Amino acid sequence: RDWQVEDKVVTTCPHCGVGCQLELQVRGGRVVGVEPAYGPANRGILCVKGKFGSYKFASSSDRLTDPLIKENGEFRKAGWDEALDLIADRMKAIIAKDGPDAIAGFSCSRAPNEDNYMFQKMMRAAIGTNNVDNCARVCHSASVTGLATTLGSGAMTNTIRDVTHDVDAILLVGSNTTEAHPVIGAQIRAAVRAGAKLIVVDPRRTDLTSMAELHLPIRPGTDIAFANAMVNIIIANGWADEAFIAQRTEGFEALREIVAEYEPEKVARLCHIPVADLYRAAEIYAKAERAPIIYCLGVTEHTSGTQNVMSLSNLAMVVGKYGRPGCGINPLRGQNNVQGACDMGCEPHNLPGYQKFDAPGVMDKFEGVWGRALPRGIGLRATQVFGAAAEGRVKGLFIFGEDPMVTDPNTAHVRAGLEALDLLVVDELFMTPTAELADVVLPGSAYVEKEGTFSNTERRVQRVRKAVDAPGNARLDTWIFAEVMRRMGYPETLETAADIMDEIALVDPDFGGISHARLDAGESLQWPCSTRDHPGTPIMHVGAFKRGLGYFYPTEYQEPNEVPDEDYPILMSTGRMLYHYNNGAMTHRTEGLTRIASQSYIQINETDARALGIAQGDLVKVSSRRGAIETQAWVGDRVGEGEAFMTFHFPSGNPNVVANDATDPLCFIPEYKVCAIRVEKT
Ligand code: SF4
Repeated sequence: RDWQVEDKVVTTCPHCGVGCQLELQVRGGRVVGVEPAYGPANRGILCVKGKFGSYKFASSSDRLTDPLIKENGEFRKAGWDEALDLIADRMKAIIAKDGPDAIAGFSCSRAPNEDNYMFQKMMRAAIGTNNVDNCARVCHSASVTGLATTLGSGAMTNTIRDVTHDVDAILLVGSNTTEAHPVIGAQIRAAVRAGAKLIVVDPRRTDLTSMAELHLPIRPGTDIAFANAMVNIIIANGWADEAFIAQRTEGFEALREIVAEYEPEKVARLCHIPVADLYRAAEIYAKAERAPIIYCLGVTEHTSGTQNVMSLSNLAMVVGKYGRPGCGINPLRGQNNVQGACDMGCEPHNLPGYQKFDAPGVMDKFEGVWGRALPRGIGLRATQVFGAAAEGRVKGLFIFGEDPMVTDPNTAHVRAGLEALDLLVVDELFMTPTAELADVVLPGSAYVEKEGTFSNTERRVQRVRKAVDAPGNARLDTWIFAEVMRRMGYPETLETAADIMDEIALVDPDFGGISHARLDAGESLQWPCSTRDHPGTPIMHVGAFKRGLGYFYPTEYQEPNEVPDEDYPILMSTGRMLYHYNNGAMTHRTEGLTRIASQSYIQINETDARALGIAQGDLVKVSSRRGAIETQAWVGDRVGEGEAFMTFHFPSGNPNVVANDATDPLCFIPEYKVCAIRVEKT
């Protein structure tokens, strides 16, 4: 039906971190359809979210089209000058009274690199604080910290194609890839059909466990014990790569002493898996020539998340599976641009390019380019901001495109923090539960309305292209941040996304060779890409690790923050489903997707259900020490006895009301994957 289409625009999917390329079909100033485009990550296929859930939301009549100011508890429409002046005046008043660190900002992992760069520049150069973070804090901050410590870089080491083609085995840990990263899930299925041995380490039975050589349904929270026992078996059987360990690593002797205590029989009992399967998994992984570790949030979202990641890094390092094709350690990043939001410095302890405040020459460089004295102390992590707000240490919060009232654990704690603020600004597409609590709501732009780039999970920087205008008085988010900066007394002059990328290339050595012009000329670039003639880096750590020697961090098992007891006897994890994305603000506005899935549910084991008198589809009450919700029971054998699973895409029956907000002491990620609950028939 090309005759109906006036324009076609190739861009990047706005949902998960796979980074599929798609073609927007435009007619009458609206996007009316989507077709797959051929990109390095997707090679001409899309999942159901990309095909059907990636455009209708943009022309929804629910879009915010004017700035809103709350007066006497009600929102009223306002002009841009009034809204922006109000924000700047109230932020200046907070700074005058309590200093710049009384303001914090959450940037948007769904938005382009250029938006994220401008947001953190606004927080640092114009407001004067490092209190800037993004949603990686609650999904992969454990990867960023863990892999930066052991390897020198927190990113996926290899490419999607490389770890799913011509591999002998795949060790897949804590990833329901078919639902959370569907196009990679399809490539893993193809790899298995081509002969790769798939080992799935996951408490739940998922689509991929049905075709796995081995499924190890480990008890949630026992990942370090599992990885240490694997290393134990590998060393004991002489399968370690001693030359690699000697030439390219440090810290092996300390790790060897620790893993000696992780006897396989003892660990198998702790992890609730057969010991023979543990031995078999170690043998398959160690002996395979090309065998990547691929992992996701089942590994990271724990109070031991950073050490979980480092224990997997130890496992790959002991067998020398780094710096070559078909190997490495490969975190699957969740949101489309959560990799980029981190790359762009939307973290309280990193400037763009993961550059540290105390590294030689770094502050001089940024202060030279930005023309301002910059704050040097590490700022608050997003998970610390709600408590700091409730205690009066944070008075103002600027949230760009995030919805912590739906997506963050312990909703009562989040609400208490947000309601205690003097000023809450939310820049959004829709009136979300978080925006409802704001003092000022700003109508931003969707990805189909802007230029820029997303960085996918394999560090590939890909173009986002404008197809249509934003509705009503909605504005580009980069314009909004520049206007706030100017009103705060910072004379920001950057205007176009291409200009912003040029400044990124100036300050971030990993992006030094990346420009819109190169990408528009057809080049496909993965950072590090240091110069204008650098081809990009598909495989990292070739020859040497980014930190020099790879570091065996001595990881030790620790219990989760909360374990089941008499009052709360079931252990619950949370995660995604195929048909919706995070808070659902975009996918809930696609009728076809909501027709398939529109309600929350809890998966419980049939034995537990029988004991509790619960049948399939019953309405049940789920409670924890933090709150209670009602949802539907899904009874079966997807989860083991004493375990449960929920998705978090629906404001009603949202497990984040009950989820645990205890955090990892190293990276401050919350423990979404383990909390103690009670389930009762209502
Ligand atoms: Fe979009 Fe991810 Fe689906 Fe690809 S796999 S179409 S990036 S949601």
